[in-house]
Amino acid sequence: MEKHYDVVIIGAGIVGTTIARQLSRYRLNILIVEKGIDVAMGATKANSAIVHGGYAEPHTTLKGRLCYAGRQAFARLNEELNFGFKESGSLVVTADDDPAPLYRLLEQGRANGLTDLRIVSQDELREMEPQLTPDLKWGLLCEGAGVCSPYEMAIAMAENAIMNGAELKLESEVKAIGGSKGNFVVETPSGSFQTRYVINAAGVQADVVSQMVGLDDFSILPRSGQYLLFARGSGKAVNHVIFGLPTEKGKGILLTSTIYENLLIGPDASEQEDREDTSTDVQRMAAIYDTCKDLYPGLDAKQFLRSFTGIRARSSTDDFLIEETKVPGFIQVAGIQSPGLTASPAIAEMVEGLLVSSGLVLEPNPDFDPYRKPIIQHKELRPLREIKPLLDIPSAPEKVICRCEQVTEGEIIDACGRGIPVKTIDGVKRRTRASMGWCQGTFCRPRIVEVMQRITDEFDARFDIEHSGVSRVEKSELLDFLTSRADK
Ligand SMILES: Cc1cc2nc3c(=O)[nH]c(=O)nc-3n(C[C@H](O)[C@H](O)[C@H](O)COP(=O)(O)OP(=O)(O)OC[C@H]3O[C@@H](n4cnc5c(N)ncnc54)[C@H](O)[C@@H]3O)c2cc1C
Repeated sequence: MEKHYDVVIIGAGIVGTTIARQLSRYRLNILIVEKGIDVAMGATKANSAIVHGGYAEPHTTLKGRLCYAGRQAFARLNEELNFGFKESGSLVVTADDDPAPLYRLLEQGRANGLTDLRIVSQDELREMEPQLTPDLKWGLLCEGAGVCSPYEMAIAMAENAIMNGAELKLESEVKAIGGSKGNFVVETPSGSFQTRYVINAAGVQADVVSQMVGLDDFSILPRSGQYLLFARGSGKAVNHVIFGLPTEKGKGILLTSTIYENLLIGPDASEQEDREDTSTDVQRMAAIYDTCKDLYPGLDAKQFLRSFTGIRARSSTDDFLIEETKVPGFIQVAGIQSPGLTASPAIAEMVEGLLVSSGLVLEPNPDFDPYRKPIIQHKELRPLREIKPLLDIPSAPEKVICRCEQVTEGEIIDACGRGIPVKTIDGVKRRTRASMGWCQGTFCRPRIVEVMQRITDEFDARFDIEHSGVSRVEKSELLDFLTSRADK
């Protein structure tokens, strides 16, 4: 045991990485410990990617109070960190004659401080979203809501925190926590770390981590949500994030374009015991498809690219739990279900405040640099004939490795040299989009492996092999299911 940290953050999702980046503004020894092989391996990599307006949760909840505050930071953070954010606006729509539920959301939003909400009538709705069913009668528009790239955001936060002095240890699952405020000892397979403060940002495992210091005052009740992602370009069909009316399980199924113009539909909501099972199920896929087909009749299953599941870390209190606990120095950041991504900048500021109240003295880091260059340059894809000559040239920065998303060798090398060890194809994919296109990696996977094996000793093919075993509904299965159902 060598170094004594000021703060150890458990979990490198959007919450842990945003806290680390926020704290890296100060002269502090900060360590993030993450059990996964990369950052953003939990809920942060599998969610709707919506920067929510802040009207869906009441002001009586912490979720309600932190959402809008977080949303307001996105434009600035994206300018600094270049993770991808688009203020597309959101619409809650209804085919009912009675707009009362929308007015209730409007009032709730105003209580949360929002000033960019208004009710839109059928005519305006048709103009705004000509591809949606003409049956819709009313909408609630939130102009400043939008979409972002959540895992790129967490990667950017972590890269910038590291650049500003924070440390990250991957594949370091916290197994035990000993000691007390000022002198905690955090035990992981890659070492024991002494620290003055511990921040628990362990997502679906937050209750398990809490129990390590003897706290037993909440539990995580995992709730999964499944999604269907469609081909690049399909997202142009909608201009806003489209929600139906909320249900008792939350904001309900939505339809949106991602920042890369893939149509994304989902999530449904189902309680499940297994906190890590991210398989998908064809019946659930079909139910999501049906809901969205009613809203957007042009929805085309043939454009379906892939399915995925995210697990919500819903706490037994059904709200965010952010506090210094009765174990002094142990800061709880648990139960961070939706809108946790949106709220993350505000959560990080709140945690900073808790640390100060607990006696941590914050001196500015004179070397703090808020900027981080993008990896992915948002670009229109070039015609195939233009990139063909760059496909089979010898190794060079401009060599095109991924044909569908037009990712170059130079971009892959850049992505791997930014302070976070990139050990997997999945890690390359999330940083560069290589293998996210129409062929889903059939063409570029061996080419990525070739580059990775050349540039790093840390490349670990085992991870990608293990994860290729997660049972996910493929296109043929979905199409067969929809056809067989139609035939009955
Ligand atoms: C289906 C779904 C849809 C959502 N949609 C939205 C949305 O559109 N907008 C929005 O604002 N929010 C949304 N959310 C919520 C948002 O995704 C989460 O609030 C956010 O990602 C939580 O981040 P986190 O860092 O707390 O958790 P995670 O991303 O889960 O990170 C926790 C990390 O802790 C690590 N960890 C766990 N145990 C240990 C341990 N013992 N030792 C070390 N590391 C450990 C995990 O490996 C993981 O990387 C959605 C969530 C889901 C599931």
